[in-house]
Amino acid sequence: METTPNAFSGYDYLIVGAGFAGAVLAERLANVGRRVLIVDKRPHIGGNAYDRYDDAGILIHPYGPHIFHTNSAAVFDYLSQFTQWRPYQHRVLASVDGQLLPMPINLDTVNSLYGLSLNASELEAYFASVAEPVEQVRTSEDVVVSKVGRDLYNKFFKGYTRKQWALDPSELDASVTARVPTRANRDSRYFTDSYQAMPLHGYTRMFENMLAHPNISVMLNTDYRSIQEFLPWRHMIYTGPVDAFFDFKYGKLPYRSLRFEHMTLPQEQALPTGTVNHPNDYAYTRVSEFKHITGQQHPQTSVVYEYPQAEGDPYYPVPRPENAELAARYAADAETEPNVTFVGRLATYRYYNMDQVVAQALKVFRDLEPEAGEQG
Ligand code: FAD
Ligand code: UDP
Repeated sequence: METTPNAFSGYDYLIVGAGFAGAVLAERLANVGRRVLIVDKRPHIGGNAYDRYDDAGILIHPYGPHIFHTNSAAVFDYLSQFTQWRPYQHRVLASVDGQLLPMPINLDTVNSLYGLSLNASELEAYFASVAEPVEQVRTSEDVVVSKVGRDLYNKFFKGYTRKQWALDPSELDASVTARVPTRANRDSRYFTDSYQAMPLHGYTRMFENMLAHPNISVMLNTDYRSIQEFLPWRHMIYTGPVDAFFDFKYGKLPYRSLRFEHMTLPQEQALPTGTVNHPNDYAYTRVSEFKHITGQQHPQTSVVYEYPQAEGDPYYPVPRPENAELAARYAADAETEPNVTFVGRLATYRYYNMDQVVAQALKVFRDLEPEAGEQG
């Protein structure tokens, strides 16, 4: 990777943002001979998936815990060119009524919470008896109450969601809480995807490998607006917030932000699992311990607390009908920009996981370079 000021001429592509969306496209395009300049206003590559060693020498994720999981062999195989993997299955406990209980809600969650000893089919019957039927599952409240009833909803979802989004679950699309299933078995994994693994040497190393191609120049600490007029480029790939690109002309799209509080503790382990959720207590939603996730051995340990907030870096699009409408107006304008392609979580205003962004970027590559795409 290099920053070469005198090479700033004749770029085929100017890529804004060095997260997953930008890095995948930079790599793919460079691989078929295109000259690429990738810029990021942050001082590092990797976007929100960036990781680094903290002062204690522990690998941390400054923007919150990032666990890789996918059902796509194509995405996994693609990334495997740039990293080896460490198998890892994430587990989460929720602190409810003085106990730490498996989340997603499963057989053990319900039995421990209520002091029962149901088996799986008895639990199915229990869920059916407490479920509140809804005609059409539309909101994040509907998803949960229609499956497991009001009490479990109140204890595990209502408070967490209100904290995370500053909205009641009834004001959010079903897709938000539908990310977290409920189960009648004892499976305590947070994800059930067929590929679940962490980059063996971290995300940043993987991004470095993706961007190491001689056709790629990287400029950090650079807002694209400060250079776009001075450098000749043919086509832009934009992965920042779509409303910012258009100077907020239809108004601001809501993005939810977080404040991360990082801490190193003088003990080998702090939590029983990678993450503990706090749906009902404290201003933070969850605390995560990186060594569970990375597998690093170290006599100390580092954790991060996530405090949701309105202001700050845009992290989450907020899925609800009026925001989708506003995003659609921006998307319609994006369609009419002949020399710009919008890709990624912020630019397409979608609550995408990392693997979905990779899949989206690979598809954009095939659309941009159809002949090359067929070969690759
Ligand atoms: P980003 O990573 O946001 O990259 C966009 C880049 O564009 C940024 O680096 C930004 O600085 C840059 N940029 C913006 N505007 C400009 C500008 N004007 N000039 C120059 N540069 C600009 N996904 C998972 O699969 N598993 C997880 O466990 C997971 N955990 C998450 C936890 C948290 C707290 C958050 C917030 C997200 C999590 N995600 C997770 C989602 C994951 O972070 C995203 O899917 C992915 O990082 C999105 O990649 P991207 O390239 O679209 O955007
Ligand atoms: N959620 C909840 N309680 C939990 C975990 C999740 O209510 O213990 C809801 C909440 O609305 C959250 C959403 O489910 O924002 C998605 O959770 P996920 O863990 O996928 O969030 P992310 O990792 O994307 O922040």
